[in-house]
Amino acid sequence: MAQQFLEMPDSQGYFGEYGGQILPPELKAVMDDINTAYEQVRQTKAFQDELADLYAHYVGRPSPIFYAKRLSERVGGARIHLKREDLNHTGAHKINHCLGEALLAKHMGKTKVLAETGAGQHGVALASACALVGIECEIHMGEIDIAKEHPNVTKMKILGARLVPVTRGTRTLKDAVDSAFDEYLKDPVNFFYAIGSVVGPHPFPKMVRDFQSIVGREARAQFLAEHQRLPDVVTACVGGGSNAMGIFTEFLPDAGVQLVGVEPAGRGLDTPDHAATMTLGTKGAIHGFVCYNLQDEKGEPLPVYSIASGLDYPGVGPQHCYLKDVGRVRYETATDAECLDAFMTLSRTEGIIPALESAHAVAYAMKAAKTMAPEQNILVNLSGRGDKDADFVAQHLGL
Ligand SMILES: *Cc1c(COP(=O)(O)O)cnc(C)c1O
Repeated sequence: MAQQFLEMPDSQGYFGEYGGQILPPELKAVMDDINTAYEQVRQTKAFQDELADLYAHYVGRPSPIFYAKRLSERVGGARIHLKREDLNHTGAHKINHCLGEALLAKHMGKTKVLAETGAGQHGVALASACALVGIECEIHMGEIDIAKEHPNVTKMKILGARLVPVTRGTRTLKDAVDSAFDEYLKDPVNFFYAIGSVVGPHPFPKMVRDFQSIVGREARAQFLAEHQRLPDVVTACVGGGSNAMGIFTEFLPDAGVQLVGVEPAGRGLDTPDHAATMTLGTKGAIHGFVCYNLQDEKGEPLPVYSIASGLDYPGVGPQHCYLKDVGRVRYETATDAECLDAFMTLSRTEGIIPALESAHAVAYAMKAAKTMAPEQNILVNLSGRGDKDADFVAQHLGL
């Protein structure tokens, strides 16, 4: 079983029955070119050295693991440890794959990197990576999101990205995806569409996972060195699933380590306001690949919601779907209320303000710890910091 995980996906980009390339032939050819270039360049010492150097001296890797002693004591039960991806340059795990994608685009001689962004987190990480690597960057963002996410909009402009306001349809993420994709289709041979998670057509779920897997490689070695044992539980929030795949991958062969992905239950699983794709979705195609989906009878994506805008995607990475079906990873949920409680509790017991996305994983750890013994250990991937959420939470809670 362990080996089987490490050899995924197959040559067509499938993880079991999920993933693949649900695309017209011209685009499939472009994706196959990206896959070939990626497989070739990733083997070279020059690429490996360049990425390793940037992870160390630009991102600030390795990120530490912090034992959250006061949080653990407050909750009672198992010890909770945090993998501090919030300390990365630009404030989250996203920079790990944005750097890899920008380097690959540059290596392939592409003229422009394109992406959509919702709250602006992917946009800022990508604009930073493109500035560093020296390649043009164009970000499509809904007008409503532009008005809401002012600091990120300003950052993208300072970083030299071309910001395209999207005025069609809902003027939010969904239409930003369509707008960015239309631009990409004008010249897919020279443009590079930088997908922001382990989703989309092959090879993106594989490539983004590989770039993120540095998180789990570091974490497993750090934990062993510090504690001479592996954690009992490793947990991470799941939007598209990149930070979770990043920390899970290295632990997949360790049968004794429970892996738990945490999805947003929003206002409750019995309301329409959630984004619990793995928990309540059904198999279908979205954005060029097959995965669990929240969709209506016609196969149209349902509107999804979470207090953490980075988690509200109606699909999910294909490898997660496979890992759920074979029972290697369990998927749980946390509501907005549990997320806010974890956000405040971590802030006030440890002086660490987490991203609302990451607070979902903290919320699960707080629930699980209570049911576990004091000598057991939970490792949480703290995917990002909460500076971007501070004003919203303060307003929401009337602080
Ligand atoms: C974007 C984001 C996420 C969700 O993306 P995944 O691909 O599921 O990891 C989680 N945490 C933070 C801090 C983010 O910015």
